[in-house]
Amino acid sequence: RARETGGGTYRLFNRTLDEQVKRQFELDNDLRQAVARDELRLFAQAYVTPADGIVRGAEALVRWERDGALVSPGEFIPLAERNGAIVPISEWIVENAAKASSAMSDHLGFPVPISVNISAVEFRSTGLLSRLEGIRELYPLAAIEIEVTEGVFAGDMKTAGAYLKTIDEMGFPLAIDDFGTGYSSLSYLRDFPFSKLKIDRSFIVDMVERPRHRDIVAATVALAHHLGLVVTAEGVEDQAQNDLLKAMGVDYIQGYLFHKPAPIELFEDLIRRKRYEGQS
Ligand code: C2E
Ligand code: MG
Ligand code: MG
Ligand code: MG
Repeated sequence: RARETGGGTYRLFNRTLDEQVKRQFELDNDLRQAVARDELRLFAQAYVTPADGIVRGAEALVRWERDGALVSPGEFIPLAERNGAIVPISEWIVENAAKASSAMSDHLGFPVPISVNISAVEFRSTGLLSRLEGIRELYPLAAIEIEVTEGVFAGDMKTAGAYLKTIDEMGFPLAIDDFGTGYSSLSYLRDFPFSKLKIDRSFIVDMVERPRHRDIVAATVALAHHLGLVVTAEGVEDQAQNDLLKAMGVDYIQGYLFHKPAPIELFEDLIRRKRYEGQS
């Protein structure tokens, strides 16, 4: 009633606010049902060795198909983390990535690594370890790797460290993702069992033009290699970047220059073509 007596601007402001709240509420509700409604889609982005462009594996990247459009994980994962939908969503992702890796490894006769992103919120949730144990039993051929960002160390470092150790001991290789953003600390590399380091796209994007960024990349590669980690450069979009990274000895290249994310169902065919290309 107060609204009706208010000025025009006030009413408009309120309606807009109402609409925003309503949209958010709908998104929230829909997200809770996304798994049950079978609206999640698993995409995969291949990564390659820079010298020969041979596909070595892929990163699983989730999308949400809502009203015929694909919603990006950057939008809905944070929402899912807040409303708890992340638990069933993450279960679905891990299960489907394992299923795909297992089937492809079986068909091709060599392990096809698929890496899965585990956000800091899921990481702290109980159930992740038993979920991973479950897929070990269900899909013994699956080659699943786990990507975490530095965010997992916010808060209780000791618990995070114990988690990582357990995951590693279960036979899931660990990658530190988006390295260089957030609160990068060298102690993470020293103290925890990472086997792969992924250099964040923000260092790659202008490394050709900016010597300081290039130097950081080169130093990170050298440090990681000293510690026995393999290095992936993410977000590689042009040949000049690729040439520099190759000269630095980067192990894997992931980026639009070679492959964009595509439905994971297409990955087996891609790896069939790109795995043997240039080998024989
Ligand atoms: P991320 O793990 O760093 O994944 C890489 C992102 O960079 C992907 O965006 C990928 O499409 C994009 N990318 C790859 N190559 C290039 C390139 O050459 N140029 C540009 N401009 N972008 C490139 P995407 O798929 O939108 O995912 C964004 C983020 O959302 C991911 O960053 C990851 O943190 C999160 N995410 C994606 N899938 C999942 C998931 O299944 N679970 C969780 N927890 N998070 C996920
Ligand atoms: Mg990732
Ligand atoms: Mg990344
Ligand atoms: Mg990233």
